[in-house]
Amino acid sequence: MTASFRWGASSEVGLVRQINEDSKWHDPPIFAVADGMGGHSAGDVASALAIEVLVDEFERSDSLDGAVRAANKAIYRKAQSNPELAGMGTTITALYANEGSAQIAHVGDSRAYLLRGDDLGRLTQDHTVVNRLVQQGRLMKEDADRHPQRSYLERALGVDSEVEVDVHVIELQPGDRVLLCSDGLFGMIEDELIQQILQTEHDPQRAADRLSEEAIHAGGNDNVTTVVVDVPAAATGSLGSSAATTRHSAVPAGGQLDTGPIREPPGERGTLRAANAPRAGPDSSHRSDAKNTPPRRGKSKIILTLAVLVLLAGGALFATQMWLSNSWFVGSLDGRVTIFKGVQGNLAGFDLSDVERETDLASDDLSEVDRIRLERGIPASSSSDANRVVAGLEAKVTPSPSPSPEPAPPASDPAGSPAP
Ligand code: CA
Repeated sequence: MTASFRWGASSEVGLVRQINEDSKWHDPPIFAVADGMGGHSAGDVASALAIEVLVDEFERSDSLDGAVRAANKAIYRKAQSNPELAGMGTTITALYANEGSAQIAHVGDSRAYLLRGDDLGRLTQDHTVVNRLVQQGRLMKEDADRHPQRSYLERALGVDSEVEVDVHVIELQPGDRVLLCSDGLFGMIEDELIQQILQTEHDPQRAADRLSEEAIHAGGNDNVTTVVVDVPAAATGSLGSSAATTRHSAVPAGGQLDTGPIREPPGERGTLRAANAPRAGPDSSHRSDAKNTPPRRGKSKIILTLAVLVLLAGGALFATQMWLSNSWFVGSLDGRVTIFKGVQGNLAGFDLSDVERETDLASDDLSEVDRIRLERGIPASSSSDANRVVAGLEAKVTPSPSPSPEPAPPASDPAGSPAP
């Protein structure tokens, strides 16, 4: 039952960009914002394709998570098969609104906010380098939204054949207002102003328009897209009929970055994070519970099990060593493109890789997409393959010497110049 939702939406090119690479969707039960990236008009293509596939796939499968994954695949394939679209990608923040609850699927740095009464909270985490630094305590969260590298994404649709999707379920209450937006909004105006507009503009279309207007008024450096969805105040439905359904925990707007987007209530582990726990569903919590419960069996059985585990661990250790010594990837270290032997990540606090060669190539000189690939680690089949990857990255970086005395060709500037 979705007919009673009211909504408003706005998407503006802003004052600096030449085209609008954002896309949006607002037709219950699905609402979404996508923010495309890529040279020329590829970002435009990526975000539009994301929305198109999201909506089609959701209709077919009824799975928001599956629909986002399908969108990722579609963009990835299109980018692979069209050289002029190579490297395109997009964010997506999608809402499946239902009576009493909603599901959010999210990749990238667009955002979902929830206004409930006098509280504005974020429902999504930005998948950005800056946000990770904040979470690691290496950057003040106050500085994150204005950080020059704030848009360096760690995840986007279309970059790889598979993507990790954050999926959350939230409880909706009468009078709740959800905002989906691209970074052209919160990159320009503070959360306090966003909250004030959401609280004072009661008509959702007017609220969406006002938000965009304020972002443009503040400089309009980026495309800005807003979708405002209102849960009717009268719809009491069956909300809160059971404590077990209390899933919402929006993060306060002032302190959103240091916690997960949805805090998991005690005893409900696994019910909210449907995404990364490889689409496990409710069964996974049973499995983990079973794992944590000491088996009430005989001592001899425990000893036998331990012996088998030790043998298995020995074999696994050997296999792991072989695997690590035959794996390479290209990543980033201290801002430099670096070849690593091993695999990215760590196990129980131990790094699974060693530096093989640090190059002079600065990560910051790479395109946004290559930076994303680098952050995730670009796998290589051998040391020489890794060197080929580095050579490929170096070739893509155009040297930027001191300003050329000759004027640049007028039509070759994909970033565009500020509108008059
Ligand atoms: Ca943007």
